[in-house]
Amino acid sequence: MLAVVMHGAKDLRVEQREASAVLPGEVRVRVAVGGICGSDLSYYRKGGVADFKIREPLTLGHEVAGEIMEIAAPTAGLTVGRRVAINPSRPCLVCPFCRTGRENLCVDMKFLGSAARNPHVQGAFSESVVVRADQCIPIPDGLPFTVAACGEPLAVALHAVRRAGEVMGRRVLVTGAGPIGLLCLAAAIRAGAAHVTVTDLTPEPLAIATRMGADEAIVVSGEVDHLAQAASTHAGFDVAFEATGAPASLAALPLLMRKGGRIVQVGMFPPGELPLGMNVLITREIDLIGSFRFDQEFAMAIELLAEGKIDVTPILSGLYPITSALDAFEIALDRRRSVKVQLEIT
Ligand code: ZN
Repeated sequence: MLAVVMHGAKDLRVEQREASAVLPGEVRVRVAVGGICGSDLSYYRKGGVADFKIREPLTLGHEVAGEIMEIAAPTAGLTVGRRVAINPSRPCLVCPFCRTGRENLCVDMKFLGSAARNPHVQGAFSESVVVRADQCIPIPDGLPFTVAACGEPLAVALHAVRRAGEVMGRRVLVTGAGPIGLLCLAAAIRAGAAHVTVTDLTPEPLAIATRMGADEAIVVSGEVDHLAQAASTHAGFDVAFEATGAPASLAALPLLMRKGGRIVQVGMFPPGELPLGMNVLITREIDLIGSFRFDQEFAMAIELLAEGKIDVTPILSGLYPITSALDAFEIALDRRRSVKVQLEIT
């Protein structure tokens, strides 16, 4: 089967790979559409993401939807031909985290298309992928595969909003208008935020933020002057979603928050450590918390998309055939031209 495989930084190949067998409890899914994620782009640019480096050829892809081709044994609700979104998380289900509803922190997680463990877990930018049956969430016939494939990044945003605690009636800041930032915006609005400001270094994605309902979209320079001004006008933000993973962005945040506010770190940073003015966090009692992937929110995301309660179409910026994956990755890197680029796989 044809697959999009990383061999190292800037060495992306569309090549034939062997399909794996379907074991008991598993299903084979024909992959229709796959979205290119910021982490896929990081593997492409740098050969790694955060502290995870590619050590062997890795098929990328974890934002996918398709149709069931093969089932090992009869499984409730799943039949051959059923259209599904794939949850890329395959937690062990037995560790203490899995048993307390925090599957995203599973000690034995197998996440599609990730170099977080060795050997790597191969991804789903391939004509078919084998997953555990519970990773398949059926989708209605009317839901396009392109929208269903946004269930995964939307789940990341829903999880971040849950980590933020109370969002209803709050003043919210989202730093970074990439797909995750824009979906945090949508999720915060859905959660009842009173006012949402979105910032980015690039104006083009901010226009999309405005279309998606942002009350304020601010182009920031490296100095974040405008932002500081906005924060002082509003007496600080109650909640911030840091979705850039840029150390300078996080460093600027504590002073933009109202005392007692909460920063949710969603963006992944480059490897290594980063300095942070901790005394400001202490004296202003700012909460700084991490948000990693998602757990129960995947099914919730698919439900919201299926019911049309969150519209992700403004972030969809193009569908390219798998054979043009290289072009698609280059286009996805250009933030002035694209937000979410997807591959048409079969
Ligand atoms: Zn587990």
